[in-house]
Amino acid sequence: MIQNRAREILRILQEKFTKPAWITSKMDPFETLIITIISQNTNDKNTIKAFERLSKTIGVTPESLAKSDVAKIEECLKIAGLYRNKARVIREVSRIILEEYGGSLKPILEKPFDEARKALMKLPGVGTKTADVVLLFSAGKPTIPIDTHINRVSKRLGLAPKNGDYEKVRLALQSLFNPEEYMDAHILLILLGRKYCRARNPSCQECPVNALCPSITSTSP
Ligand code: SF4
Repeated sequence: MIQNRAREILRILQEKFTKPAWITSKMDPFETLIITIISQNTNDKNTIKAFERLSKTIGVTPESLAKSDVAKIEECLKIAGLYRNKARVIREVSRIILEEYGGSLKPILEKPFDEARKALMKLPGVGTKTADVVLLFSAGKPTIPIDTHINRVSKRLGLAPKNGDYEKVRLALQSLFNPEEYMDAHILLILLGRKYCRARNPSCQECPVNALCPSITSTSP
């Protein structure tokens, strides 16, 4: 049964990987939103550097960013990809949160899941994945954000439909786990994708869940 296989995969990954210590479901919503916008098309190392620079130079609050010169934000984000566009998006998002939501994402995150998701996705630069990251990490809402690793790995593992789009993959995974496991599923499938189930040349022979994977091959899937 697919649910049993999914649970066994999760159990093995929980034993195999150590989750980063900073990950909780109590992260500041505005900081989570900004770091997720910075992370679009950017690796973790440069995302963190850009976020830290923004934090030290301007401060990551709706007030400070809405009032900042866009060139100053650009300067902080230079290490990240698409920094000019991201700087404009971040300033505009900050302005909207300041002017329309009283400087806090709380009024959005207190709404029921679907309404909160829709409201977040109305903000510039916020798509499904960014909205789901904020909802999961800062509001403890039941969703599994799907990034490129999770999309690839869950399809190879047969946990999501091969041609499924973002929503199909998200809902397929959510149907296999309990809501309290969503955070672990999100983080651990990313770690599996980075370390073993890479896009090219996956390490199937070393992969800790290869006995449960329909795509295992001696070379690549
Ligand atoms: S066995 Fe291979 S294809 Fe399957 S999850 Fe592991 S690395 Fe990916």
